[in-house]
Amino acid sequence: MNILVINCGSSSLKFQLIDSETEKWIAKGLCERIGIDGSMITYTPAGGEKEKKVIPMPDHTEAIRLVLETLTNEKTGVVKDLSEIGAVGHRIVHGGEKFAASTIIDDEVMKAIEECNDLAPLHNPANLIGIHACQKLMDGTPMVAVFDTAFHQTMPAKAYMYGIPYEYYEKYKIRRYGFHGTSHSYVSKRAAEVLGEKYEDLKIIVCHLGNGASVSAVKNGKCVDTSMGLTPLEGLIMGTRSGDIDPAVIEFLAHKENMTVEEVLNVLNKKSGVYGLSGNISSDFRDVEQAQAEGNEKADLAMQAFHYRVAKYIGAYVAAMNGVDAICFTAGVGENGSMNRKVICEYLGYLGIALDEEANNKRGEDMVISTKDSKVKVLSIPTNEELAIARETNALVNK
Ligand code: ADP
Repeated sequence: MNILVINCGSSSLKFQLIDSETEKWIAKGLCERIGIDGSMITYTPAGGEKEKKVIPMPDHTEAIRLVLETLTNEKTGVVKDLSEIGAVGHRIVHGGEKFAASTIIDDEVMKAIEECNDLAPLHNPANLIGIHACQKLMDGTPMVAVFDTAFHQTMPAKAYMYGIPYEYYEKYKIRRYGFHGTSHSYVSKRAAEVLGEKYEDLKIIVCHLGNGASVSAVKNGKCVDTSMGLTPLEGLIMGTRSGDIDPAVIEFLAHKENMTVEEVLNVLNKKSGVYGLSGNISSDFRDVEQAQAEGNEKADLAMQAFHYRVAKYIGAYVAAMNGVDAICFTAGVGENGSMNRKVICEYLGYLGIALDEEANNKRGEDMVISTKDSKVKVLSIPTNEELAIARETNALVNK
C-alpha cells in the first residue's frame, strides 16, 4: 500500500509517498511559503529529477491539492489516481497526555488534538489544518496521527514533573513532554537490531542532533527521560534555541532590554543557540564549524558549549538508568558530523568508550562506530521519521 506522509508546519508542508511493502519512498517534496508571496513546491520522484516550481499556494488546502495533483500528474506523477494512495500518516507535534501512541483520526481525535493547541500554539493548529485539507480532498482515505510526544509518555512522574507548585500541573498540565519521539523510538529500536540484541534488554541513549536537538534515555524499550520539556526550548543548545537557562534570565532581559516576555522567548527560540552564541554567524552547524576552523573565537565557544551540553546530558542519563549499553547519534549533525561525535565521545572515556576512527568517518548508513572492545557501543543511525510514520500508519490501518 502507498502511504502519504504529511508533516504540516505553519507555512510549510513536507510530504513523502512511501510503499509500505518495500519501505522505499516513491516521491517526496516540500511546499514552502504557504500563504506568503512566492510560494514554491519542490518535488522529487524516485529515480527522477528534482524540480522546483514557484506557484501560488494561498492556504494549506491549496498546497495539499497541488501535492496530490503533482503525485498523480501524467508526466511527473508516480501514481495513476488517488485510489492508489491507501492511507495518510500525519505528524502531529503535541499529543499532551492524551496520546501515548499513534491513532486513527476521527472527530474525537481531532477534538483531542485541538485541546492540545495551548501546549503547541505554533504547531498543532498547522497540523490540524493539514488533516482538514486532506479530509476535504481525499474523502474516505484512512488517516493516522503520529505524535512527536507519544514515545515519551512512558517517562515516570519523577522525570516529567517540574519542581514548581503541583497545582500548575493539575490546572494546566505543565510538565515535561519531550519531542522528536518518532525519531528517538525509530533510532533506539534500530540500534538494538544493528547490535543483534533484544530491545527490551538494553539501556540506550539517543542523541538527536539537528537544528532542533534532544537527548533521550531508553531503558528496556521505554523512554525514561528526555531533554526537551513542555516545549522544544528546553535541554541542549540548538541551532537557534538556547536550551536550559536560569528562568530568571527572562525577567532580567525583559527589564534591561525593555522587551515583553514574548519578545524574550522569541530571542531564546530564534536568536540563541549556536547562532546567537557565535555572534550570529549562522544557525547551520556547518557554517559555525567552518568559522571555528578559520579561528573565529565565538564560533569555537558555540561549538564547545554545544558539545559540552550533549556530554552532560549523556552523563545525566547514564545516572538515570544506572548504566548504558549503547549511545546513538542521529539527525543532521549526529549522522554527518563525525568531528562532533568524536569531541562528544572524548568526554565519555570514563565509560570505557573508544571510537573507531575509520568507522566514525563514514556516513549515511546504520553502523557501530566504537571499537570492538569499547565497553559501551556507539552507533551512528540516520533517522527516518517519515518511514516510522508510514509504518505506524500501515500497522493501524491494517489492524
Ligand atoms: P532539523 O530537522 O531540525 O532542521 P536536521 O536533522 O535536518 O535538522 O539537521 C540540520 C543540521 O545538520 C544543520 O545545522 C546542518 O548544518 C547539520 N549538518 C548537516 N551535515 C553536517 C555535517 N557534515 N557536519 C555537521 N553538521 C551537519
